[in-house]
Amino acid sequence: MNAYDRAVNEIKNLRREAEDRGRLIFKAALDRDAKLAAAYRAYIEQMHLFARGQKNEFKKAEAALKKAIADAGLKREQLDPPHACKLCRDTGKVGGAYCSCVISRVINSDRHNLTLPSYDFDKCKSTAPSDKLKKRYEEAEAYINSYPDGKPFFVLSGTAGTGKTVLASAIASKLMARGASAVTVTAAGFVRRALDYHTQFSIPDYTDRFTPMLDCDVLVIDDLGTESVLKNVTNEYLYIVINERWQAGKYTVITTNLTASGLLGRYGESIFSRMCDKSKAISKKLDGDNARLGIKTKTDKTDKT
Ligand SMILES: [Zn+2]
Repeated sequence: MNAYDRAVNEIKNLRREAEDRGRLIFKAALDRDAKLAAAYRAYIEQMHLFARGQKNEFKKAEAALKKAIADAGLKREQLDPPHACKLCRDTGKVGGAYCSCVISRVINSDRHNLTLPSYDFDKCKSTAPSDKLKKRYEEAEAYINSYPDGKPFFVLSGTAGTGKTVLASAIASKLMARGASAVTVTAAGFVRRALDYHTQFSIPDYTDRFTPMLDCDVLVIDDLGTESVLKNVTNEYLYIVINERWQAGKYTVITTNLTASGLLGRYGESIFSRMCDKSKAISKKLDGDNARLGIKTKTDKTDKT
């Protein structure tokens, strides 16, 4: 059973438990409240008659029961708890496909899906050491506020130590706080997941970490251009993810140390054209000023884990 089917079962079980709790509350009320019990018996009787086509007294019995329930101090939401998900009514499926509540549940419950450290967007924005970086945070904020209907791609390019990782990860944190499911990976982590997926048949208890990158509301791929290029894996799986998210308009944040021509040269036209498609992508540069003013960094390593 895959993680999504397990989540469907969990959602159905939670629903069943909620309904059981409602039934127990009602049963206890029937046991202690004779008036309510009488109204309920009358209602059931009328319901049987109604089913045989005799509907005379049904409405009246129904109204009497409602009144008895209210008089007993019971609330409708206690007896018939509202569905946690209005879309699938806690069945986990919509039109045969997994409901978004299932996908969010799976993605957000797996800590491996957030491999970059989390950052508080507003705090990072207010303490940005340069005007240039502040400006990038403002642009990122507009991107966040456009969710889920704006341009889905946000590409940050620039040299090491400019704060790309922190900004990208802070975007994911802020969108998660608004209910989005998120996956954040380094480019190297992306390749590892793709390779595991590619060879999963040989790993019996393999947990799929690839599909969350397609399914999540927000994906961050950090430091594209630093990963190893594995034949039949890196570019092929990157294309699958980029293309699917591009077509579906799903929010995707990419940081890279490569220039536009560097991206084109390394990944080819089909990936490049989607990643930098002006109608669906916002491209920004973070160059020059070191984000950690006064700290001379030799590498970008401290920015990520
Ligand atoms: Zn649902």
